[in-house]
Amino acid sequence: MANLSEDQLAKLKQALQQRYLELQEDVRGELERSGDQRYIDLAGKVGDVGDDSVADMLVDIDTAIVDRQVQEMREIETSLKRLAALNFGDCSDCAGEIGFARLLAYPTAQRCMPCQSRHEKTHHHESNPSL
Ligand SMILES: [Zn+2]
Repeated sequence: MANLSEDQLAKLKQALQQRYLELQEDVRGELERSGDQRYIDLAGKVGDVGDDSVADMLVDIDTAIVDRQVQEMREIETSLKRLAALNFGDCSDCAGEIGFARLLAYPTAQRCMPCQSRHEKTHHHESNPSL
């Protein structure tokens, strides 16, 4: 596991949870705006799911409405799981450290900077090239 202090991990966890809540609000807003009663009912449940995965709950709906949010929520859920499993902060390509500064800016980052650049060069259609 990357060499992150308890304090740094706590900060990153907080950043991830905060972002997750923002996305949850976004999703609820989008569903309510859709005007479809089924989605409006679902929107009422978003934010009230406790430990359940909101992303999983949204699998059955037309995710085109909230596709970007659901995708990012999945990334956050994955990051939170990795954080709990203590392999958080390790690059998924070279197993080196991603680094605290980069993680704080992009808590869902799964690669260190050099590996990410290489990845983007070989995958031009990356959905979020700013990572
Ligand atoms: Zn790497």
